[in-house]
Amino acid sequence: MHEEIRHPCVQHKLALLRDEATGYQEFRDLAKEITMFVCYEALKGVNVRKVSVQTPLAIAQCHKIDEELVVVPILRAGIGMLDGILGLVPTARVGFVGMYRDMESKKPVAYYQRLPSESSNALYIVIDPMIATGGSTSAAIDLIKANGATHIVVVCIVTCPEGLRKIEEAHPDVKIYTAAIDDYLDERKYIVPGLGDAGDRLFGTS
Ligand code: URA
Repeated sequence: MHEEIRHPCVQHKLALLRDEATGYQEFRDLAKEITMFVCYEALKGVNVRKVSVQTPLAIAQCHKIDEELVVVPILRAGIGMLDGILGLVPTARVGFVGMYRDMESKKPVAYYQRLPSESSNALYIVIDPMIATGGSTSAAIDLIKANGATHIVVVCIVTCPEGLRKIEEAHPDVKIYTAAIDDYLDERKYIVPGLGDAGDRLFGTS
C-alpha cells in the first residue's frame, strides 16, 4: 500500500529540493516543509476525541488527536525530517534506528536502536527521505514490530518501484506515503533521477 502526494505545493518544493544548485541550508528547510505536507496526509486517519473549547464568544465543539504517536527516524538522513513532523505533532515520542549496509552480505545491519518501551498501541511513523532498495526500511520495521508495534506507517520524500515492492512484500500491513515515485535504481543503488545522497545534502558533507 502506498500513496504519492501529488499536491502542487509539494511538487513545487520537490523541484527545488532536487536541484543540484540548492545548498544544504535551503535543502534542509525544503525537506522539513515537504515532510510536513506528506505527514499531514499520513495522519489524516489518526484517532481524535471530542473536546469543548471556550472561545471568546461561545463553546466550540472541537477535536484533538487521541493517539499516541512515535516517530522513528532512520539514521542518519531521517533526522532531516524530524523537525518537520514534530512541527505537526509536537507531543510525539521519538525513537531511533541506525542502519548500515554490510559490504559483503549487502544486507542491512542495525547498529543502534532506541525505541520507547511501553508504546505498543501507538502509531509508529518511520521517516527516511529516500527509500531506495527498501532493505533498511524493511529491516527497521522488523525491529519496530519486534518491539511490540502493530500500527506502522512510513513517510519518505522520494522512492522508486524497487523500494516500494520490497516493503510491500515484507510488510503488507504498512502504508508508505511519499512525495515522489522515481524511475529506477542505478548500479550504486541511487534513485534516478532522485536528488543525490540525502544525508550529504542535508548535512553539507558531500
Ligand atoms: N539514499 C540516498 O540518499 N539517495 C539515494 O538516491 C538512495 C539512497
